[in-house]
Amino acid sequence: MKKNKNGLPLEIKYCIKCNLINQRPTTINEYFHTSESLQTTVEFDKNGVCAGCHFVKKEFDSKVIDWTSREKELIDLCNKYRKNNGQYDCIVPGSGGKDSVYASYILKHKYKMNPLTVTWSPHLYTEIGWKNFQNWLHKGGFDNFLYTPNPKIHKKITHEATKRLLHPFQPFIIGQKTFALKMAAKFNIALVFYGEMPGKGGKKVSYKAKTYAEATEQKGFEMDPLEGKPFEEAYLGGKKVQEYLDEGISKSDLQSYKPLEIDEVNSNNIQFHYLGYYLRWIPQEMYYFSVKNVDFSANPQRTEGTFTKYSSLDDKIDGFFYYTSYIKFGFGRAMNDSCQEVRHGHITKDEGKSLIKKFDGEYPQKYEEEFLNYISMKKEDFLDLCDKFRPKHLWEKKSNFWQLKKRL
Ligand SMILES: [Zn+2]
Repeated sequence: MKKNKNGLPLEIKYCIKCNLINQRPTTINEYFHTSESLQTTVEFDKNGVCAGCHFVKKEFDSKVIDWTSREKELIDLCNKYRKNNGQYDCIVPGSGGKDSVYASYILKHKYKMNPLTVTWSPHLYTEIGWKNFQNWLHKGGFDNFLYTPNPKIHKKITHEATKRLLHPFQPFIIGQKTFALKMAAKFNIALVFYGEMPGKGGKKVSYKAKTYAEATEQKGFEMDPLEGKPFEEAYLGGKKVQEYLDEGISKSDLQSYKPLEIDEVNSNNIQFHYLGYYLRWIPQEMYYFSVKNVDFSANPQRTEGTFTKYSSLDDKIDGFFYYTSYIKFGFGRAMNDSCQEVRHGHITKDEGKSLIKKFDGEYPQKYEEEFLNYISMKKEDFLDLCDKFRPKHLWEKKSNFWQLKKRL
């Protein structure tokens, strides 16, 4: 298959079952993500069906996955790690969105674990995000550490990540991945729960991989993301750590982004497990669960760029994360949401298609001003930058409007 300089397939395809575009990247190791990096993209079989569809199909097939026995595995796992002495026995990272609510609630109240919830703070909390975060703790009854990395530095890295990678969410993603591990080591907790299995989104990770370590076939799941190199040689926002240091930013100001040393991971024997391996992970049901148990609020209106009201609501940058993904990969927010719902049989493929046509790529107006302020860019400069990041095989300009060359 022919690819462009960043590894995207030159021939554009849409999954014949769920409409997913074949340009969707799978995970990348963000510590070495630069403008030159090669992306790996979601696999399609010879019939044009994406890996995400294959994955979800397995979840529906009781001959492939027996959910009763998987729940038994979870109970065994909990029995192994449960401390019963008042100390925390597991960590659930999250921000109070539907997934982290479900994971923490069910672990505490059904499986009688004592989870510590930890939160790497969003860049710019939305009102509804903050309310949901508070409800999660107040109504769910959880201990929580909310960690905010130095906002001046975070803002600077976000600027670089936007300028160099058109990825304003990258510094947040880095923290999401590293923070839970550091807290696990600090509190001597050996079990960390993630939610959804990565294979569900089309990443090349087997449905049998219950831990992060077993998912390492896919780039981006390294237990040692520095790959044995010193931190100074890693990148943040596509810029070398050494360059930040040369500009006078101190080592201590960048510590929040430094991953836990692999020796510490190993000596603490920290394990990452996907709760989605043990229990079926259905976004819509997580939402109903969160409404019922912690009074989770959806947006009063649909979220810009999509048709849903309940996903990724806590950060004012979310909308731009999906918007820039649409520019770089033709993969927008409505596609992200609808593909999952098609795979779970909540909507048909044709319904998904019309939602994508209607909402994908819608410009996020609502928090535009705060976003531009945050990344320190003028609107014209941001839009010019977006145009520079449009891959040539994906986009063409017709009567002064950009459109995808091959549309759904
Ligand atoms: Zn598909």
